[in-house]
Amino acid sequence: MNIIPAIDETEIMTDYHYLHQHGEVAFHEHETTAYLARRLDDMHIAYEHFNGMTGLIATLGAGSPVIALRADIDALKQTYQNKLQVVHSCGHDGHMSLALSVGRYFSAHPHGLHGTLKLVFQPSEETGEGAEAVLKTGQLGHIDYFYGVHVRPQQEVAFGQCEAIIPHGSTQTITGTITGQTFHAGMPEQGHNVIEAFTRLNEKIMAIDLDTNVPYSAKATIFKAGDSTNIIPGTGTFALDLRAQTNDTMADLTKIVDQIIADVQDDHFSVRTNKTGFSPAAIPSKNAIGYMSQAITAVLGQRGLVDSVPSAGGDDFHFYAYSHPEIQSTMLGLGCDLTPGLHVPSMTFKTDALFYGAKILIDAISRTA
Ligand SMILES: [Zn+2]
Repeated sequence: MNIIPAIDETEIMTDYHYLHQHGEVAFHEHETTAYLARRLDDMHIAYEHFNGMTGLIATLGAGSPVIALRADIDALKQTYQNKLQVVHSCGHDGHMSLALSVGRYFSAHPHGLHGTLKLVFQPSEETGEGAEAVLKTGQLGHIDYFYGVHVRPQQEVAFGQCEAIIPHGSTQTITGTITGQTFHAGMPEQGHNVIEAFTRLNEKIMAIDLDTNVPYSAKATIFKAGDSTNIIPGTGTFALDLRAQTNDTMADLTKIVDQIIADVQDDHFSVRTNKTGFSPAAIPSKNAIGYMSQAITAVLGQRGLVDSVPSAGGDDFHFYAYSHPEIQSTMLGLGCDLTPGLHVPSMTFKTDALFYGAKILIDAISRTA
């Protein structure tokens, strides 16, 4: 068990280079899916395409436990080098290469796997919709352990180091429209000014004070109303950005914000809202983190395992454990000297990190029992 697995570095780089050059946006990862299928065919690994969408799920071994590994497969449409193009600026090309190398290892070393391994090549992480879409297909089946992986910015985790969990917080966006009464500013008493209603709403948002040590925030990020200097605006739109480090705190925060919005409404003002962009927080699993920590230490030594850095970002990976609380999950945070940051079109990282990343994932999966 403590033997560090041998991986094929050349194959990892072949996959990485192809996938890096062929980025595709969310739910349009057709070439990507075809490439993954070809590579799985070459390795004689069984897989199913997801019904009605891109991505696929491969299965190795049999019986329990059922261990899944998620690789997200989409890229981002961005302007890079003065050209609008689809760029893998979130490192999903690396994640796919890792999942393929894990499949390659266990197809050659089936005795190293206890139970079943499912490689989940998930579309559309960037829109936050992919994990829920995969869950909706019903093709996932029962899962005991669910692992994910994400490259980390250099300022969070350096090359040669990893974290055994990425403590993503929960995020939620609320957009809304306030309706009052438009009127000439010379007769303000005839109108109902939505700026005043929004000011009341925002003052209450700013005064939220939850009784918790868990970090959270609720901030207005958009407010638009009026386009004439002499007219009382009767409609306005706004957006609120909610964040919390745990799902329970997000639930409390959302309830309070909903109440504040309800309280702003009276005979003069109505508010219509829409919730979008919900992403659950990571749900720490002691066992999954334990296996991942042991694997990091086995491959990189004690100094390779670093304390997790709370991440302001979110990941739809956490929908799996959020919707199935019996699933034990964690994400490997792969240090790789990634600069200048995720989603920056010029983002680069040291691809040598993929070699130890593959070994850590293989080792963690072999330990999972
Ligand atoms: Zn990503």
